[in-house]
Amino acid sequence: MMIKKINKKEFKELFNNLKEKYNIAAPVLVDKNKKSLVEYQYIDDFDRIVWNKQPDSSPKNIIFPQNTPVGNDYKRKQFYNQEQESLILGVRSCDIEAIKTLDQVFIEDEMYVDQNYKQRRGKITLVGLSCPERNKSCFCDALGFNPVESEYAPLYIFKEENEFWIKVKDEKFEKDFVNLPDGDQEKLKELIEKRLDTFKESSFDLDIPIPLPEKEMFAADIWEEMSEKCLGCGICTYYCPTCYCFNFIWEGNDGESTKYKNWDSCMFSTYSAHASGHNPRDSKDKRYRNRIMHKFSYHPLNYEGLGCVGCGRCIDRCPVNLDIREALKLTEKYLSEKGGAKSGKN
Ligand code: SF4
Ligand code: SF4
Repeated sequence: MMIKKINKKEFKELFNNLKEKYNIAAPVLVDKNKKSLVEYQYIDDFDRIVWNKQPDSSPKNIIFPQNTPVGNDYKRKQFYNQEQESLILGVRSCDIEAIKTLDQVFIEDEMYVDQNYKQRRGKITLVGLSCPERNKSCFCDALGFNPVESEYAPLYIFKEENEFWIKVKDEKFEKDFVNLPDGDQEKLKELIEKRLDTFKESSFDLDIPIPLPEKEMFAADIWEEMSEKCLGCGICTYYCPTCYCFNFIWEGNDGESTKYKNWDSCMFSTYSAHASGHNPRDSKDKRYRNRIMHKFSYHPLNYEGLGCVGCGRCIDRCPVNLDIREALKLTEKYLSEKGGAKSGKN
């Protein structure tokens, strides 16, 4: 492992060198519908990077874009060189864990490998960014994740004011960083311990079994109360870094059409409608139940880890202030009143 420490000016030089070889995406301020948002975009200007705010949307938008043309008729203009490898700079621990979830589903599941995702993901390296403190809606630590550093990223940045520590954990990248000044490993250790201390007190206490017991929770009478306010807008799923439902549409004329893979949402009322007209999730309580159960029961039953990484974006974005933490607390209360919670794996 290599540890480097550079100042902002040196990072800018490093960025300019790296962009000769890699496409670089990072969180930047964008104006959308007259609202300023921080989102990941491919950039060529280091000064645009926003370091001190959790991005409003996750790097899912780069790895699994909202609309992706698929097939041979790939006509859409790309804003980066598709032949080159890419770096995504400044990815926080929750989002790194979320990409691990997407990798499990789209690449590591032997039942089906999504070649489109695999191809794009294979050329992307995550460059982590250690979180110095918690936002008011973050709760990754309550779910067992480490906000200071995730093991899943081969490169990691620890920013302290205008200084940057860079941990190069994968030898493959050492040549890109070898000429930078060395950082003191012990001092970085101290910084990491100091940061871990700030997260010592958990964001909220949660005592639920993982996976949630499937049959028991499916039959629970709590979902109507939880979902009462839900509008079915799907914003929570679009901003969620782990939600990955999609559908296909074709655009254009015969012979000139392009097939797109578009994000879908299990919170939409027509999402699970059958061609026969039957809809097994014909009410919002059933849809809300599916969202929570997918993240805390079905995903952990089928893969390692959770389908939620506690990034808090669904809490910040929900137009009617539905808070997934409250849903989890209601689940905890329900299971404890039923005589103690048992994991769905038992
Ligand atoms: S963002 Fe809120 S209102 Fe919209 S679908 Fe999600 S939970 Fe329902
Ligand atoms: S469910 Fe909410 S808190 Fe959990 S990962 Fe998705 S957006 Fe983040």
